[in-house]
Amino acid sequence: MNYLDLSGRTALVLGIANRWSIAYAIAQLLQAHGVRLAVTYQNERVREEVQKLVSEWPGTLVLPCELTDEAQVEAVLDCLQKEFGQLNYLAHCIAFAERADLQGAFRDVSRAGFQTAMDISAYTLIAMARRAAPLMPANASSIITLTYMASERVVPNYNVMALAKAALENSVRYLANDLGPQGIRVNAISAGPVRTASARAITGFTGMLKQHAEKAPLRRNITAEEVGQAALYLCSDLSSGVTGTVHFVDGGYHILGF
Ligand code: NAD
Repeated sequence: MNYLDLSGRTALVLGIANRWSIAYAIAQLLQAHGVRLAVTYQNERVREEVQKLVSEWPGTLVLPCELTDEAQVEAVLDCLQKEFGQLNYLAHCIAFAERADLQGAFRDVSRAGFQTAMDISAYTLIAMARRAAPLMPANASSIITLTYMASERVVPNYNVMALAKAALENSVRYLANDLGPQGIRVNAISAGPVRTASARAITGFTGMLKQHAEKAPLRRNITAEEVGQAALYLCSDLSSGVTGTVHFVDGGYHILGF
């Protein structure tokens, strides 16, 4: 059996903004293994770039989706139902917090900043899983999301996003339990730092990259492609018995105690 022949399968990948996006690395690998894709872009500012990135992938749908806009979210699901008929994989690669809440004292986070980070970075996984699940066939479906170790340990400046990632990881466990009886698996990948637009919003990000490279057991930073490889495993039937987990792709950094 060739576990990595995913032809005939379909995926919705949320979160491509540019060629550095981890979502793009995931989409590239799924596509290369035969998956037909739908990708979304958040707004007009990135539309052309996203269209260009996926232009060589046959049959790929490119749809607008601002995740706080219910009408756009509904339109994406309607389109998937019509064009694909079913959905095997959902890759949620979404995070947002106000820049002011990714620096300084943790206690200074505003209520509005807290709500924004939680809503976009955690709640959107639940909302999308709820909507996607009716399209997902039993025992051939997988939902993945992206998280970071600051959900459990204090990382300077990560602040409100650390709370959102903690909520996201617990959502993975609850969704896995909810959707497991329907044969839908739900997992998170906890990535080490990768230079992307979102990551650059975190004050001191370059220092984080340097420290990971110096201290991680593999003594280097990881790549977006390596996150894509883990996503491929978590989508494919190679991981058919795996759900509710947080799978680290961080060169081993999370095991360190110093
Ligand atoms: P990115 O900036 O390329 O991707 C973030 C995406 O979220 C963008 O495409 C953006 O358009 C989208 N987004 C934000 N708010 C949205 C909204 N309201 N509606 C629709 N889309 C919205 O950065 P990335 O680093 O590839 O981030 C992807 C995921 O990986 C995030 O969850 C991030 O926290 C996670 N992650 C990143 C790193 C890292 O170091 N880069 C490490 C661990 C986890």
